[in-house]
Amino acid sequence: MKIEIPAAPAQLLRRLNDADFEAYAVGGCVRDALLGITPHDWDICTSAKPEQVLSLFSDCNVAKTGLQHGTVMVIVGGEGCEITTFRTEGSYSDHRHPDEVRFVSSLQEDLARRDFTINAMAYHPDRGVVDYFGGREDLRAGIVRCVGDPNERFQEDGLRILRALRFAARFGFRLEERTGQAMHENKELLDEIAAERIFAELKGFLVGQGVGPLLLEYRDLMAEILPPLAKMFDFEQRNPHHCYDVWRHTVCAVEHVPPTELLRLTMLFHDSGKPDCWSRDEKGIDHFYDHAKRSIELAEEMLNRLRCDNRLKEQILHQVRWHDLPLPQNEREGRRFLRRMGEEGAFWSLQVHRADAMAQAPAYLPEKLERIGQAEEILERLRAEKACFALGDLAVKGKDLMALGVPAGPGLGRELNRLLELVIEGECPNEREALLARVQK
Ligand code: ATP
Ligand code: MG
Repeated sequence: MKIEIPAAPAQLLRRLNDADFEAYAVGGCVRDALLGITPHDWDICTSAKPEQVLSLFSDCNVAKTGLQHGTVMVIVGGEGCEITTFRTEGSYSDHRHPDEVRFVSSLQEDLARRDFTINAMAYHPDRGVVDYFGGREDLRAGIVRCVGDPNERFQEDGLRILRALRFAARFGFRLEERTGQAMHENKELLDEIAAERIFAELKGFLVGQGVGPLLLEYRDLMAEILPPLAKMFDFEQRNPHHCYDVWRHTVCAVEHVPPTELLRLTMLFHDSGKPDCWSRDEKGIDHFYDHAKRSIELAEEMLNRLRCDNRLKEQILHQVRWHDLPLPQNEREGRRFLRRMGEEGAFWSLQVHRADAMAQAPAYLPEKLERIGQAEEILERLRAEKACFALGDLAVKGKDLMALGVPAGPGLGRELNRLLELVIEGECPNEREALLARVQK
């Protein structure tokens, strides 16, 4: 099988091979190319030692930050390409960092240290695919399988447990049985992994097309990294709107939002507060009053634990907070909704509502989708009209009010907000003269 390698990495491979070193494209790029996906970067592995790579590319721009791991980054055509010397990794006494990196002479040893068979293939421009571990067969069958003994491989590096989930979700693959079993058995290893790395893998996993069934089958791993999620497992909801327990509903909702980190994380957390807010009425119907408030507390705790950046965290918490906010059914409600959610946030919120509805009892679905569709129309119309729903849209500014004698200070802000309120409520057009006439000095 012939793989088309773009000019820049092809040129690097050529130069290494012409200098009598062995050099291959390796890992993710080979996997993706065989799947018919355009690789996002081309990693190269070579028998050349780092100093030899440096001297061979002394006429190029290089970055040496990865040098102690044997990696030289060569910049060609504005893009960096990593060239890594064949290596193994020593023992992993902390389950995270290899104690030593040892350079080796054979490609096979280098491939043997890699995590999964589908990631352990190399490609030589003249000799084609090198596949010692059955990677091609697993690609065809849609299987993520550890290279070697899964228990050992996860004990060397616990992060591989989440990497396995991420690759399975991305490609819609399943876990090979022993690999899957070892993931469950070694889940405590995740406790020792840096939160940033866990979060990066979790986000990659959640945006994968095949995330749903994996969230069900590997929910114990989710509870290991985010303990508050466990309360949702098998938590029944006897309520005519629901047909699933809280976790199944959550999983289904995750599957039904578009695959962005914000939306997938929002759905993962949106009902996390339900178990703490449960009550059953005299008719035997379950209620979860005010659960969104509890959900944001738990979501914040979990996002802090994951060291989520503030911007994404605030966006998620806002969506979780208002995931049950009734959707606008007229323009006035539309402006109120836009004020609360922001323009971008309002459209994200529609996706949240849609996914939430899709994960509930089918009997009410057409009705719910109808309302969501109406809300969408209203919001689209307000957007097209550039409707006023924020202080920045108001036809008067603070200095206009000051010119009328309103003193600077908090009173000025209150007055502007009052005017905005009038416009949003449809009691005053967003026009300068009309607004100035309503100013209270
Ligand atoms: P992506 O498309 O997500 O970048 P990738 O396969 O390129 O996928 P990387 O994390 O970029 O994944 O790693 C490049 C290669 O290095 C992998 O294909 C795999 O062969 C190897 N690798 C990366 N991380 C590990 C690890 N923790 N343990 C073993 N091998 C690993
Ligand atoms: Mg990569």
